[in-house]
Amino acid sequence: LRKQIQQRDKMNLLSELAASFAHEIRNPMTVARGFVQMMKQRELTEEKRQVYNQMVLDELDRAQSIINDYLSFARPQMEALELLDAKQLVLRALEQLDTFAQLRNVRIEVDLQDKLMISANADKLTQCIVHLCRNGIESMPGGGILRIIGSVQSSRVSIDIIDQGIGMTEDEVGRLGTPYYTTRGKGTGLGMMVTYRVIQNIQGRIDVTSEQGKGTCFTITLPSLQPSSYH
Ligand code: ADP
Repeated sequence: LRKQIQQRDKMNLLSELAASFAHEIRNPMTVARGFVQMMKQRELTEEKRQVYNQMVLDELDRAQSIINDYLSFARPQMEALELLDAKQLVLRALEQLDTFAQLRNVRIEVDLQDKLMISANADKLTQCIVHLCRNGIESMPGGGILRIIGSVQSSRVSIDIIDQGIGMTEDEVGRLGTPYYTTRGKGTGLGMMVTYRVIQNIQGRIDVTSEQGKGTCFTITLPSLQPSSYH
């Protein structure tokens, strides 16, 4: 199954997102409020009190992640674009995932061509790479190998992020990048939306190939900039 994400539809999502944002934040707040209320009961065992306390903290954390992810999407992309070597950027992004991968028995293998010159904001693009790799790692509950391949071909730089995880159905692939689409308990379903947006803003695209039970490959393709053509 090979499916190119329909990026143009995702442009309309900001309005949809604004509408659902209030609703999404209200959920954890209502639940947290309920537990705080229950903690006022006089004849509450210490054990129950601790459970309620933890529930409140979890719900507040969830509200916090929704707000953070939403902000990184809604914030206008004023950040400066720089001439970057995607190889160096990927290697630095992977440093952030060292422990995360090790704890999940995932080995990361890289095969990156030298001088993958692109124009991007380093922080934003790093955030995308980290996010896609983290999703790949999380899709392999029993561990496995995450491969990152970077190459340049006919004025396009491509970065493949390939996992051996649970994969997705065609329908699930189609829902990627839709606000709040998540199959993970602690997920917000905003990460992929932010990722698509960032790549789109630098004239790039993301393609997804996935097979259930086998794994997923995300391919980021960006215009390649050779230093001589960069002014
Ligand atoms: P979150 O990580 O908060 O759930 P994302 O927007 O990053 O939000 O991802 C949305 C959903 O897409 C995930 O919950 C998961 O179901 C699916 N997904 C994303 N990446 C992968 C992957 N590499 N393998 C399998 N499923 C994935």
